[in-house]
Amino acid sequence: MTKYANLILEFINQSKEHMTAEQLFLELKKTEPRVVQATIYNNLNVLCQEGLIRRMSIEGSPDRYDTIQKHDHLVCNKCGALSDINFEDLTGKLESQLGEGILFYDLKVYYVCPKCRENKEEKT
Ligand SMILES: [Zn+2]
Ligand SMILES: [Zn+2]
Repeated sequence: MTKYANLILEFINQSKEHMTAEQLFLELKKTEPRVVQATIYNNLNVLCQEGLIRRMSIEGSPDRYDTIQKHDHLVCNKCGALSDINFEDLTGKLESQLGEGILFYDLKVYYVCPKCRENKEEKT
């Protein structure tokens, strides 16, 4: 792994922010002023391929990157805010319904976040 790949992996593993490539670029630039955006994209692709990070695709917003540590996500259907949540592990249930082993599953639960709920109440 390159130095940049290591740095990016560290950022993603330490952050709870689900950073976009753009945000990672700005973060990395603080300590590595010569880094270019293409480097970030290339390294993110490599890290995804190697299964060291996961890519989160949310409709209507840029891809975000996340740790591969087992957790689920709550997504606000209005503003796209993403938060981590740990639901019961469904692997066993899914495997017994399927009748065979699975590699992993990716659970996204959509709701309206407290901030958006508040905004709505203020308007009505
Ligand atoms: Zn929201
Ligand atoms: Zn997450």
